[in-house]
Amino acid sequence: MTVPVIGITGRADQSARPPNLSLFAIAQTYVRAVELGGGAPVVVPPHLEEVELRSIFGHLDGLVLSGGGDIQPAAFGEEDSGLLWSVDERRDRSELALAQWALAEGLPLLAICRGVQVLNVAAGGTLIQDIPTQVPGALTHSTVAGRPIAVVAHTVDVAPGSRLAALFGAGDLGVNSAHHQAVKTVGPGLAVTARAPDGVIEGLERPDHPFCVGVQWHPEVMVESHPEMRRLFEALVEAARS
Ligand code: MN
Repeated sequence: MTVPVIGITGRADQSARPPNLSLFAIAQTYVRAVELGGGAPVVVPPHLEEVELRSIFGHLDGLVLSGGGDIQPAAFGEEDSGLLWSVDERRDRSELALAQWALAEGLPLLAICRGVQVLNVAAGGTLIQDIPTQVPGALTHSTVAGRPIAVVAHTVDVAPGSRLAALFGAGDLGVNSAHHQAVKTVGPGLAVTARAPDGVIEGLERPDHPFCVGVQWHPEVMVESHPEMRRLFEALVEAARS
């Protein structure tokens, strides 16, 4: 028996000692969440050439675009606001390629936090570069000192008829929040499926795709404390099976 192979995009990490030892890394929560969903997780390094990336893509049954730093605004035709965090242009290029292939070829895709932003830019959309300075009256979407990441930070309003609604029901859903950017203009072909009470977009889907779901929150860190969040990973793996 085999289970679907789910690629999880990794990130570069400089936290190792000695400090000149560069790592590629992924939070264990992504790996665990894919396992709980019934998939076999593999981490895809972020700095590969296109031919290598394409070769890996050909072996995947599904893809998770993981969280992380900000996308270089040139990727969506905007100037750098000076408010960016942890930009990695090589990671941007890799993930935008993976997202474009997944969109074009119908590979099941779950896009998380930075991932939903990558998905939107890959589809031709743009981003709010910094919510606190660019969205008047916004809630606190970034991490708050002392608040564990798995704790519900705000609700989102899930759109009726969406895949998200099929998983969680339409209406209010409690989610965590650890982002200072968000979707601005929505890429062609994508639909908004969830919004925070301040109007910030928290969910995107492509309705005519086998499974293309993006969420601005971090379901992978909620799978133990809020088991309903496993449904996103189960649905990804189910789509990846067929
Ligand atoms: Mn949020």
